[in-house]
Amino acid sequence: MLSLVGLPLAIWIAAAGVLGLIVGSFLNVVILRLPARMEWFWKRDARELLELEPDSTPAPPDLARKGSHCPHCKHPLAAWDNIPLLSWLLLHGHCRYCKAPVSAQYPLVELLCAIASAIVVWKFGATWQAAAGLIFTWFLIAAAGIDFRTQLLPDSLTLPLLWLGLLISLVPLFAGTRHAVIGAAAGYLALWSVYWIFKLATGKEGMGYGDFKLFAAAGAWLGYAALLPVIIIAALSGSIIGTILLRARGQDRSVPFSFGPFLAIAMWVWLVAGHEILNVYLHLAGSP
Ligand SMILES: [Zn+2]
Repeated sequence: MLSLVGLPLAIWIAAAGVLGLIVGSFLNVVILRLPARMEWFWKRDARELLELEPDSTPAPPDLARKGSHCPHCKHPLAAWDNIPLLSWLLLHGHCRYCKAPVSAQYPLVELLCAIASAIVVWKFGATWQAAAGLIFTWFLIAAAGIDFRTQLLPDSLTLPLLWLGLLISLVPLFAGTRHAVIGAAAGYLALWSVYWIFKLATGKEGMGYGDFKLFAAAGAWLGYAALLPVIIIAALSGSIIGTILLRARGQDRSVPFSFGPFLAIAMWVWLVAGHEILNVYLHLAGSP
């Protein structure tokens, strides 16, 4: 494994954690703003197609625009109100100006991103694999967060993740090109088939096309051999966490919930612990 700098691993892990906090606070912006912008553009295009008068509502702010404000009292937030995790903790989850509660999504995404980033560097060390693994992690958090909130998986996240996986298979960092290309095609086709079989059999739509693209990205990054374990982990975590969430919300089982977040969890778990999980399985199965 190529070590870039001879610094102790603990320093790299800590740095990854801090970087993860900062990136996490940007991912919060992506999770909130990207679907709002997508919807705005869909509405605009739909009105154009229907030859309706253009709507006068301005587009929601893009991802790069600075200057966030409290969604409740609209007071602009200073830099010290926006420190990842710390501001939320110090202000006990309330706006400094109007005392309205601030969504726990902010600190949760930041903390999740920090922990996941630190684990990636702990696993891969100071290597190009870790750098690519961090980008993989951040894309997955953004995609999962958006899907969880809105049941949408934006192409602007799943497709770049897919292309990136195919490109780094040329190095290769994880799966080799042969495994990645077959994996991408097989991933898409597998869920596409399940979708149509389910739809023809029950008349219902079990997933969206975004799930196929995310699973294609799984194949591109992890290789076709990872597709089966990834889908098993996703289904398992989905049924466990899904049941807990449904119980907590008091909903019945017919309420749809998104599959993307569980796919994202499974992809990430397989990236950092795939080999270990396989070894445990082979050991339990009594293989020499
Ligand atoms: Zn406020």
